Amino acid sequence: MKQLKIKEALGSASLTRASAPELEAANANQPPPFEGRNLYLTDRALRSAAEREGAAWARERLEAWGAVTGSAETYALAARANRFGPELETHDRFGNRIDEVVFDPAWHLLMASAMREGEHCSPWAEPRAGAQVARAAAYLMHAEVENGTQCPLTMTYAAFPVLRRHQQALPWLAQLWVPRMLARDYDPRALPLADKTSALIGMGMTERQGGSDVRANTTRAICLSDGEYRLTGHKWFFSAPMCDAHLVLAQAPGGLSCFLLPRILPDGTRNAVRINRLKDKLGNRSNASSEVEFDAASAWLLGDEGRGVPVIIEMVQHTRLDCIIGSSGLMRGAATQALHHAAHRFAFGKRLVEAPLMQNVLADLAVETEAAIALTLRLARTFEADASDGERAFARVATPALKYWLCKRAPSVVAEAMEVLGGNGYVEESALPRLYREAPLNSIWEGSGNVMCLDVLRATRREPAAVEALLAELALARGGNSRLDTHVAALTAVLADAGGDRGIAENGESGARRLAGGIAVALAGALMVRHAAPAVADAYCASRLDRFGAGALGTLPQGAGCAEIIAQASR
Ligand SMILES: Cc1cc2nc3c(=O)[nH]c(=O)nc-3n(C[C@H](O)[C@H](O)[C@H](O)COP(=O)(O)OP(=O)(O)OC[C@H]3O[C@@H](n4cnc5c(N)ncnc54)[C@H](O)[C@@H]3O)c2cc1C
Repeated sequence: MKQLKIKEALGSASLTRASAPELEAANANQPPPFEGRNLYLTDRALRSAAEREGAAWARERLEAWGAVTGSAETYALAARANRFGPELETHDRFGNRIDEVVFDPAWHLLMASAMREGEHCSPWAEPRAGAQVARAAAYLMHAEVENGTQCPLTMTYAAFPVLRRHQQALPWLAQLWVPRMLARDYDPRALPLADKTSALIGMGMTERQGGSDVRANTTRAICLSDGEYRLTGHKWFFSAPMCDAHLVLAQAPGGLSCFLLPRILPDGTRNAVRINRLKDKLGNRSNASSEVEFDAASAWLLGDEGRGVPVIIEMVQHTRLDCIIGSSGLMRGAATQALHHAAHRFAFGKRLVEAPLMQNVLADLAVETEAAIALTLRLARTFEADASDGERAFARVATPALKYWLCKRAPSVVAEAMEVLGGNGYVEESALPRLYREAPLNSIWEGSGNVMCLDVLRATRREPAAVEALLAELALARGGNSRLDTHVAALTAVLADAGGDRGIAENGESGARRLAGGIAVALAGALMVRHAAPAVADAYCASRLDRFGAGALGTLPQGAGCAEIIAQASR
């Protein structure tokens, strides 16, 4: 009662302090809501990249999806799904183990909408030229708004080629799993697959003792007489545990192997997968990531014993593509909010967008974002079913290089965009804090930054076709910009030396970030020179190329005395 009176008193006091016209004037300097826009129709860079890379036929579908993703309703659902994150229920009221994850209804609505669009399956369900590019454009728009739901969608999309590859050897895969992975009606029920309309698949590789180095996995698999396996051990990160199955790695007698581990067994009982707890994560809060234990859990071997990594790598490649698309979406989602705010907000008598220094910031954000989108859809084209050998060789080096570079760019782009909104950007309702918390994740999972750069190094040292395809792609822009030509000449020299004593960037592994970054900015510069407006291409080449990938940490030059510096800092 007392509190109420104080509130009333404060309310009337504040009204007497500022007159209605004054309040109106103050509000006039707040921008209109950002949401309620078509994310496809308002994105020239995305539209032209999608059409250029082979998805012109998908225009209507992408426009429709752009209206859904950019709607006020989707933004509200995204905020809600992240505010009211998943909760673990280990037991029912009778004390039976249930290991259920309970989600806010907003999560289910977002999942249902993205599955209707086919983010988990469209290139497999409707294969045609440009299908991967069309999906990438759709996924990118989703990433501008909400990211947690993308985790199970990505993993299902990425697991599909692995299961398809093994369906001949395991006919029940073809009968039960494959059609349900292609179905578009979201079915979150915990039932045997035969009773479900659709299926989602996750991935379990990371254990406590090591994530990047999966050879250290200790989960054991033993084969029963009927050919089924029993898995005993744990996974330290096991996202989307409510998926109908996970592809997991475990040590079988023949070595590290890949298994399909269902959540519910064909007889309706729960598989022996215990969820110990959900991770309390920085971001990605709408999605459940768990720690699990397998207590002689049932699983089926995919491929041969000892071939786990080669079997699951096809899934990993596709999840890496999605990390790249996701990071580009995060950058675009943040940069457009910055542009919107600056177009409406006045400071010191002019719109922010008219202030020369702010123009520099906004233009830089726009250039970075346009380059990211162009790179992303160019890479998506290499994943098409009809991609040539040359395209696949190009992907071998471009995928890890872009996974490293674009995922690394996202946190700083999002942070800078947030600053454009001033205090409003730091407040949850702007959605920028959510994008900011999400931004580092793509760089950590599915091959962290260094692991990607070492992969680039491996590809350039061991796979001449990959280097050849990369240089052929860069040659398409030759003569378009002198800075780009100089950069590509330097990169070519470094690549030619890659197998020699001096190694990449003159110091082998330690210089791998310079190599990967140097490749990524060269590819971006080439795409900008060929396809972007001259001002955008010139700005990109003038500001990004001479640093040879040194826009990130971990790019100290040869002879920097890293060991000595670390020793000094550790004393
Ligand atoms: C939110 C979230 C959800 C996740 N969900 C899943 C999931 O569903 N399934 C799953 O299997 N995993 C999942 N992961 C785990 C993730 O894939 C791993 O965290 C990641 O692979 C890194 O493994 P690690 O944490 O063991 O780190 P480590 O492997 O210990 O690596 C630590 C750091 O060292 C670097 N590094 C490693 N080796 C080298 C080297 N030789 N030279 C230089 N640097 C090196 C890495 O780049 C990294 O920066 C998830 C992680 C997060 C954060």
